[in-house]
Amino acid sequence: MNITDRFLKYVSFHTTSDENTNMIPSTPGQMIFAQYLVNELKSIGLQEVELDKNGYIMASLPANTDKSVPVIGFIAHMDTSPEMSGKHIKPRIIKNYDGNDILLNEEEVIVLETATYPEIQQYTGQDIIVTDGTTLLGADDKAGIAEIVTAMEHLIAHPEIKHGKIRIAFTPDEEIGQGADHFDVKKFAAEWAYTMDGSQIGELEYENFNAASAKVSFRGLNVHPGYAKHKMVNSIRIAHQFASMLPRHETPEHTEGYEGFYHLIASEGSVEKSTLNYIIRDHDRDRFERRKKEMQHLVNKINAEFGAGTAEIEIRDQYYNMLEKVEPVLHIVHLAEEAMKEIGITPHIKPIRGGTDGARLSFEGLPCPNIFAGGHNFHGRFEYLPIPSMEKATELIVKIAQKLEEQS
Ligand SMILES: [Zn+2]
Repeated sequence: MNITDRFLKYVSFHTTSDENTNMIPSTPGQMIFAQYLVNELKSIGLQEVELDKNGYIMASLPANTDKSVPVIGFIAHMDTSPEMSGKHIKPRIIKNYDGNDILLNEEEVIVLETATYPEIQQYTGQDIIVTDGTTLLGADDKAGIAEIVTAMEHLIAHPEIKHGKIRIAFTPDEEIGQGADHFDVKKFAAEWAYTMDGSQIGELEYENFNAASAKVSFRGLNVHPGYAKHKMVNSIRIAHQFASMLPRHETPEHTEGYEGFYHLIASEGSVEKSTLNYIIRDHDRDRFERRKKEMQHLVNKINAEFGAGTAEIEIRDQYYNMLEKVEPVLHIVHLAEEAMKEIGITPHIKPIRGGTDGARLSFEGLPCPNIFAGGHNFHGRFEYLPIPSMEKATELIVKIAQKLEEQS
């Protein structure tokens, strides 16, 4: 099957994940898609094809060389983001894209505008897969799966390309932050892996945020407002005071690149009790630790002013920057970078302003940089996928396997 047909088949499965179901995987559609993939992997000739009860697929392509080559892996996720419907996706191929705005949906007048998304113009002349404007596309990350499967099929069809043992895994629930929860790193048994889950062609990422959440609670005392002098303590006002003590420009809307932030994601309040929910993000581990200390320090200041126990903070670390685990084995990044150059892709190495499953896996002993899958505008109706980017990603997987064998 060619890669475009394969991708179009994959997006016909409804695999939106849902953090509120308490099921593993979180939605039954992911298991249905997983069953389909298992059959496909067996039919193209992969071995040790296994689907576990949590919805994780693992499979192997045996080595075809006598050399001792490290076992490496390729990983992608089966679910799509709950931020936008992933049901009844009606993809359309724009042939030989002309560089203009794309009318996605005539009836609802949904237009992919080049003024808003100028990056699309770099694909002028290419075939691009778009949505009908009512759902996301699911290139995140079904493009990644299609690329891995097609690359394995290619390697099986071309035994003259020598490679070591390759492991592949497809995981559920990445979009709700649970994709690494039940990933059996031991069973996967690879020395390192790549997630095929980045965006535009050339992307290569091995740095992400260090991340924590902080819940700050404030206690007040309600008294009849007419007789409240020197008695009432208004927790809402104290919460506001706290929020204003944090650096005003260290927020998502004022930062980029390696700049970290405090992000107030929710607030709730009454005179008696208020809470502020923050997330804390920073690439630098020391600055990350300082940010957490700073919040604690401000809580102490509030308590010094309004009395012990007025404010309380609960900080929970969420994930860490994979750089810490990838830096000692930076050759795994260089391998991908060199492979890209050899097939004519310009590598774009940049820090992720978020997390990835690869970050979690890196800390469990499977260093795991992230490579482009080729799509743009993930999680929304304007998601699109240039077909040549998907083909290049496939070629890259093959090249990485081949280069590693040559180097070994
Ligand atoms: Zn993804």
